[in-house]
Amino acid sequence: MKVQDLEFKKFIPAAAITEKVKALANQLNHDYKDKTPIFLPILNGSFMFASDLLKEVKVPCRISFVKTSSYSGTSSTGQLKTLIGHDESLFNQHIIIVEDIVDTGLTLEKIIEELRSLGAKSVEAVTLLRKKPAREKKVDVKYVGFDLNDEFVLGYGLDYDGLGRNHKDLYKQAEK
Ligand code: 5GP
Repeated sequence: MKVQDLEFKKFIPAAAITEKVKALANQLNHDYKDKTPIFLPILNGSFMFASDLLKEVKVPCRISFVKTSSYSGTSSTGQLKTLIGHDESLFNQHIIIVEDIVDTGLTLEKIIEELRSLGAKSVEAVTLLRKKPAREKKVDVKYVGFDLNDEFVLGYGLDYDGLGRNHKDLYKQAEK
């Protein structure tokens, strides 16, 4: 599949994603059974993952979509913006950040720091995908779907220059 100038090939099929999403939701249902957490999906990339995950979450919860951005093209710009859009009070709440992918972990670290400073009772993160740098840096992600190496991925909410978010399967950039 060609997207702009890049070639992508199928990587993780929708059925495998569905299975993993259910397993993550089961873990959350178990760990938060006596709590009423607030899920904070980070837009735009996590919209599809958040939608599928939250359909399987059975504990009472609130959901508030937020936005931040640190990426352009296929490499991190290192520019970090602050968290915008949360309309719930996060003070004294159990927060679960919902990410599509954690690469260097810079975005997540910044968000966690900001939420702690707002007085959250606990802050955890669930991500569908985690890349090697975050793993090596030991960025604190409690719930991880799939571990990746350095491949650039697209689909299931993730884009390349704004394109490709609509695909239900995950694709990775084909080797040149
Ligand atoms: P980090 O701050 O962890 O380096 O970057 C996290 C953000 O970078 C993700 O939320 C996502 O928007 C973007 N990102 C990192 N790796 C990829 C990738 O392989 N594909 C796409 N489409 N976005 C990525």
